[in-house]
Amino acid sequence: MPPMVEKVLLAEPRGFCAGVEMAIKALTWMVNIFEPPVYCYHEIVHNQAVVEAFQAAGVIFVDDISEVPHGRPVMLSAHGSAPEIVTEATNRAAVMVDAVCPLVTKVHHEVKLMAGKDFDIIYVGHDGHDEAIGAVAEAPAAVTLVDPEQGLGSFEARDPSKVALLAQTTLGMHEWEGVLDTAAERYPELTTARRSDLCYATTNRQSAIRQLAQETDTILVVGSEASSNTQALVRVGRKEGTPSYRVDGPEDIDPSWLTDSKIVGVTAGASAPDQRVREVIDAIAPSDGVAILSLTDEDEYFPLPPTLRQFVKTLQAVVEGGFAVKNQNRPGPIEQDPDYSATGALDLLWV
Ligand code: SF4
Repeated sequence: MPPMVEKVLLAEPRGFCAGVEMAIKALTWMVNIFEPPVYCYHEIVHNQAVVEAFQAAGVIFVDDISEVPHGRPVMLSAHGSAPEIVTEATNRAAVMVDAVCPLVTKVHHEVKLMAGKDFDIIYVGHDGHDEAIGAVAEAPAAVTLVDPEQGLGSFEARDPSKVALLAQTTLGMHEWEGVLDTAAERYPELTTARRSDLCYATTNRQSAIRQLAQETDTILVVGSEASSNTQALVRVGRKEGTPSYRVDGPEDIDPSWLTDSKIVGVTAGASAPDQRVREVIDAIAPSDGVAILSLTDEDEYFPLPPTLRQFVKTLQAVVEGGFAVKNQNRPGPIEQDPDYSATGALDLLWV
């Protein structure tokens, strides 16, 4: 790594959001309760290091629910699943835990609600992304998926007074606003979520990278290629005029990116572990150290999925002194979940 980087400016907030925290901790419980394999429909979150950690712990990730043998435990990913997948997983599994983020569930509800009112729904999202597939599947006949970078395209409403605009939670804010402006102009009675469907984690991280872009020469965004919110962060950084690059970890850093950079900004997508962020900073090795650029505090907490909580409580109740676990890498009592972090869970998996 070239030695000329003087300082790293580290964005806060960055990395794990409340939905990812919940999903990683939930899958950690699953691998500690059940003998392997535990099945997970789709990547639990879109991060290579997280997926590999769980694969090493006995999780098999599938993209087709029919690959799950009957009677095995199954978890559904944080991105939300189509209703028929939830039904099929429930039918197949001994225990089925849906780790969908509650903010994704909110959008599923909006799709069902507006379809029930016979609205045409424009869903702004990325074709083929797990979250978009799950949301559109709630009412496919009523929904038109439009790409945020291409706008409304050939969409035509049956009734211009009954059009709803919904969105994937992880879009770039500027991309969402572009589609919103066009749609509002074309359909003055447009119905949309009060503060958009973009989640708090998406908007906070994008606000932070916009500030980072003003104060740095280059930005590295830690996260995996399949992570929509990570890719959005890179686009936001570039839109602000600062060269921005996605890296999964230090191995992806091209030294030429940093040749003329005295101050390097570092942030991370919502599914990127802080362990990878630390490795990236270690590789940059700034001569004057690391400073924090803090925009806001986040204290959101999403409880573990109700089926998992109930299952663990039942086990705890029937086995005196707590249930037997097959190794030491387990979270504490389930009531203490708010004090327990996904970063800590991954540290245990990686020992
Ligand atoms: S990025 Fe937002 S919607 Fe997605 S899991 Fe995190 S909090 Fe939930």
